[in-house]
Parts: sequence; C-alpha cells; structure tokens
Amino acid sequence: MNVMTQPDLAKLVPAGNHFIAGKFVEGEGRRIDDIYPATGQPIATIAWATDDEIEQAVEAARAGFKVWRATPLAERARVLRKAAELLRERNRPIATLETLDTGKPLQETLAVDVISGAECLEYFAAQAAVQTGEHVAFSGSRGDWGYTVREPLGVCVGIGAWNYPIQIACWKSAPALACGNAVIFKPAELTPLSALELARALAEAGLPDGVFNVLQGDGAVGAKLVAHPQVAKVSLTGETTTGAKVLKGAADTIKNVTLELGGKSPLIVFADADIDQAVGGALSANFYSTGQVCSNGTRVFVHADIRDAFVDKLLERTAALKIGDPMDEATQIGPLVSAEHHDKVVGYLKAAPDQGELLAGGERPVVEGFEGGYWVEPMIVECTDDEVAIAREEVFGPLLSLFTFADEDEVVARANDTVYGLSAGVFTSDLARAHRVIARLEAGTCWINAYNLTPIELPFGGHKRSGIGRENGRWAMEAYSQVKSVYVAMDPVEYPY
Ligand code: NDP
Repeated sequence: MNVMTQPDLAKLVPAGNHFIAGKFVEGEGRRIDDIYPATGQPIATIAWATDDEIEQAVEAARAGFKVWRATPLAERARVLRKAAELLRERNRPIATLETLDTGKPLQETLAVDVISGAECLEYFAAQAAVQTGEHVAFSGSRGDWGYTVREPLGVCVGIGAWNYPIQIACWKSAPALACGNAVIFKPAELTPLSALELARALAEAGLPDGVFNVLQGDGAVGAKLVAHPQVAKVSLTGETTTGAKVLKGAADTIKNVTLELGGKSPLIVFADADIDQAVGGALSANFYSTGQVCSNGTRVFVHADIRDAFVDKLLERTAALKIGDPMDEATQIGPLVSAEHHDKVVGYLKAAPDQGELLAGGERPVVEGFEGGYWVEPMIVECTDDEVAIAREEVFGPLLSLFTFADEDEVVARANDTVYGLSAGVFTSDLARAHRVIARLEAGTCWINAYNLTPIELPFGGHKRSGIGRENGRWAMEAYSQVKSVYVAMDPVEYPY
C-alpha cells in the first residue's frame, strides 16, 4: 500500500464483530478476512454469526422493541438527530473505513456515503416526530366514527449489499427506528465494518440497548434471519435472484418484505439535449463507484443526429478519468469490490468487443503500488443489437453500452424491453417530451436532465423485477409500520341476535 496515504487501521477498524444488546461482541463463528480491494490485502478478520448469536440478537431486539415502541416520539427524533450529528462529525474516519471496505474513492465516500446516511437519519428524525393517524367519518351512520393509528411492526431485519454499505444501513434502519421498530442489520459479507460505526453512533446518541443490532455473516445468516419466526419484516438490497430467495424464505411466516434489486436502466438523450449535461449524466450513470450502482443507466440511447458530437465529448471526458489510489482525493475510479466480482466483470469486458464496436477501454490498468488490486478500465461499446448480453444483463461494473435511435416511440419500446425497471433518465430541452416519455417508461425512479441523484425526500425503488416497495420519503414510514383501524360506537348498537 502507498505509505503516504496508508490509513491507520488500528484507529479505524471497530473492535468487535457484531453489535448485540448495546455491546460489541467478538463472536465465536467462522472467521474470514475482510479485504481492501485496492491491495487485495486483509484489513480485519470478521466472525460470522453462529445460530446462538442469531438467537441472542433476536432476543435483544425483542426486548429493545418493547422499550423503544413506548419511547415518546420527540425522544425517538432526538436520538436519530444526535446519531446524525455524530456521523457528520466522524465523516472522514468512517468514509476512510468505507473506502477500505469497498475500494470506492475517498472523493466519493467523503462526499456521499456517510453524509447521505446522516441526511437520512435527520429526515426520519423529523418524520418520527410528526406521526399521526386519521379521523374517519362514516356516511349515514349513527354518529359513530373511526380512527387509524400507525403502529410499528416489531423486529425488522435489514440485509445490505456491498456497494453503499453505510447508506444502505441508514436507509433501512432510520425509517424503521422512526416508526418504533427494533432492527437487526446484516451487512454484506464483503463490507462488514461501517454498520458497526452506525451502531456506535446510535448507542452514543442514547438508543436503548437491543434496538439496533448488527450481525455479520454470509447469505446463510441472512436466510436464517429471513425465516426467523420472531422477525416481522425484511428489507433487502441485493440482486434480483437473492430477492426471489428472500421472498420465498419470508413466505412461510407471511413477513412484510421490501426488495431493492438490480437493474439495466436506460438513459435517453434526445437531439435537443444539452450535450455537455447529457455526457456528464452518462459518465456518472456508468462510472461512478466504478460502475457498481444499482440504478446506473447502462444502456445509453443517443439520437442519431447528435451521435458524433455526443461520442466525441464522451470519449474525451472518459479519457480524463483518474484511476488510482482510492485514498488520493483526486482519484475518480477505484478498484472493483472483490476478486470474485472482478472475475465476473472482466468476463463481460472481454466479451464486450464481440458484441459491438469498442470505443474506449479494454486494457487492464496497472496502478503502481497497488498491483494486487481489482482494477478495471471504464469501457464504452457501441451496439447495434439490443439482444447482446451486455445490453440485457446487469454487469455492475464500468461498462457503458451505447445505442442510437431515430424516434421517440422506437426508443421508448427499446428502453422498456427488459425484465428490470429500477430507473430511467431522459435528457431533452423539450419539457413536454420529457414528461411524455417518462410517463411511458417502466421504471420506479426517473430523472429528467439529471441522473442518479437520490435525495432522501424522494421515494426510491423499482418496478418489474427491480423490486417491491420503496425506501426514502414518507413512503418508507409506511413500509415500516402497519395501520390499525378503530371503530368507535357512540351509542349502544342494536344487534340482530
Ligand atoms: P447479493 O444479492 O449477492 O447480496 C445482498 C445481500 O443479501 C448480502 O448481504 C448477502 O449476503 C445477502 N444474501 C445472499 N443470499 C441470501 C439469502 N438467501 N437470504 C438472505 N440474504 C442473502 O447482492 P450484492 O451484495 O452482490 O449487491 C449487488 C446487487 O445489489 C446488484 O444486483 C445491485 O443492483 C443490487 N443493488 C440494488 C440497489 C437498489 O436499491 N435497488 C442498491 C444497491 C445494490 P453476502 O454478502 O454474504 O452474500
């Protein structure tokens, strides 16, 4: 590792593996190395949860739930706000930890990962404080009336993907906690560390013991939590195939499920678009986080009339991307998350030139001092066939597939021709066209003249096989609570018996 930028692991890596009942727990399960993707070297060893530890976490969460659901709303809000403050104060060390775990450039983790988690806690702190039910009038009744109350679900399990570890932990736990639930969060096995820092911040902010727990482990630990009879809800961020397993695992106990899954999203650039803006959108929709973003617009459809101007600028700006030491704040492209994921993405990159015309990329970068890292070069391939693998399958790496189109109906049909429906983007200066096209696109999260911006206030989630339910916004409060309807009789009721 580059000595100039080597962080002090002893200061950064949390002591303990799990967080159960308000305490860091070393754990007795199988231990695996946690790897820094830029070097391929271990930064910590992590123990996976045993069955006993799973039971301890569930029991702790059940006990915590009793306390937390009875905690006044203003107090819940205060705890979440304070935890957000602590994350903001610790932005740099936690962002550094996130970079060590994911390999994402510090430039990104400092600006987005921890801060977006803090914003999420702040937003749901505000939501926590203003929860209300409704008065319901009945037409033609005897003066009777009804009301609704939103109640928490109980023990909620969050299962995270590895690309935005602390953001995902916050997106799942903040609304759950705001509604009065207890949480057990299982990070992805590749990125176990930052959830422990969230646990520390919540505990220091005054969250009662057992209300937020972290269990490390692989998919088998996740599956046990999903099937656990004392768990009321599961929210997964992961691949569509994992989503199907979680749905099946949750079926026997009729759990409430939220699924945030994969995508193969279209980004459409009309001939009247601001080309610089559209190129910026396409770059960030494909190469941010080295392409490891679920909502990425990996199928870029450009109107044939501006194809040349668009491609010239796209190639010029792609060539300027800086690949290198993730701890250098000038670096824009870090390594992929793991050796296994690297193998998968390299498989797509190697096959891609046979599926279209290679416009950029194709070399394996060598980053001096980081020869053991999982590097790839951003690639752009122009395709004429919508059926090739790189146009249909989620690569989850920096591969932009470019297409041209001639008219609106054609591009809408091609954009929708996928089993996924996570996101879509449209660049045009004709606002009527923008709204008309967005209305026809089969996607849960859409952008007009922007891409991949996900403010906490706006719900996020997918149509079709990209998911069920929504995170963020007030919709997330509905996802972590259930309605109780109450009928109030004002006078004695005449029964027919
Ligand atoms: P995976 O589906 O492989 O894993 C997601 C999580 O599920 C991990 O914690 C994993 O554990 C766990 N898991 C695996 N099998 C099971 C099971 N049978 N039961 C319960 N839990 C299980 O996804 P990745 O971590 O590889 O993340 C990349 C994927 O996530 C991409 O498809 C991407 O599109 C999607 N994603 C979706 C987002 C969205 O909001 N729509 C956002 C970010 C990513 P382990 O890590 O040990 O395998």
